[in-house]
Amino acid sequence: MSAGLLDESGTVLEKIVVARPIDQAAMEEGPLELAANLMQSDVVAIGLGAAGLVTWPEGRLIWGPNVAGRDVRFKELLVERFGLPTVVDNDANLAAWAESQVGAAQGYQHVLLVTLGTGIGGGSVIDGKIHRGRSFAGEVGHMVVDVGGPRCTCGQSGCWETFASGRRLDQIARDVAAADPAGLTARLAENGPATGGHLTEAAIRGDSRAAQAVAEMGAWLGIGLASLVVILDPEIIVVGGGGARAGDILLEPARQSMMEATEGSTFRASTPVVAAQLGEDAGMVGAGLAAAEVAHG
Ligand SMILES: [Zn+2]
Repeated sequence: MSAGLLDESGTVLEKIVVARPIDQAAMEEGPLELAANLMQSDVVAIGLGAAGLVTWPEGRLIWGPNVAGRDVRFKELLVERFGLPTVVDNDANLAAWAESQVGAAQGYQHVLLVTLGTGIGGGSVIDGKIHRGRSFAGEVGHMVVDVGGPRCTCGQSGCWETFASGRRLDQIARDVAAADPAGLTARLAENGPATGGHLTEAAIRGDSRAAQAVAEMGAWLGIGLASLVVILDPEIIVVGGGGARAGDILLEPARQSMMEATEGSTFRASTPVVAAQLGEDAGMVGAGLAAAEVAHG
């Protein structure tokens, strides 16, 4: 969980990062404590992004497969405590907003963002506005891509994020390290369990087995992107999150499989698939930009 003090252009001036909340109480109190630590007399508004199903515009986190806590009344809690204009949204929505305003998709009106974090976060900007549906649009990681596929943390089976996500990359890393104990992935992990970070590092340094494993996950990434292209027809797709650190080693196979799986791809304008620019701060920057908007009514 992270919090920052930002100026109105979305520049992060100060930042605090703490461990993720593990229960309901920590989920409710954590953001209040972080905000209190950063509070100054010239703060004009607060923005918060949460992973999972967040009601709009009430700002309640109803539930999330990868988060502790249920029905967390973030917006009410922040308003009660600080009395400032406050906006609470899904974190991937805010990340998409940030990338469309000041990041990799600046100047585009139709933007899809996917983030390979623990799962796959998704957010889209359509006609220059965050697309929410009734509230919960963009839970793209839970598109079923393989009926009867691996069990997902959401309770379904065969969700896209069971094939392509940070968690999946960790699994692949352990498999690669076990299959090749003398390989770079295993050596980077030293004696601990190999992680997606080790696998990515090995792939970037030219280890062919690691690069192949990352590329296979990239192909699965592209399969889901193809479905999203035929639904949303975005001008550009931005891929972010820690799981995407391998850059083109991951994205090039994704572009390829996306093209192959997209209906009528030869008749469509190409859809660039690019790396995010704002890194792990994207959600925070989006929360800051959204807060700046509510501050001005
Ligand atoms: Zn799922």
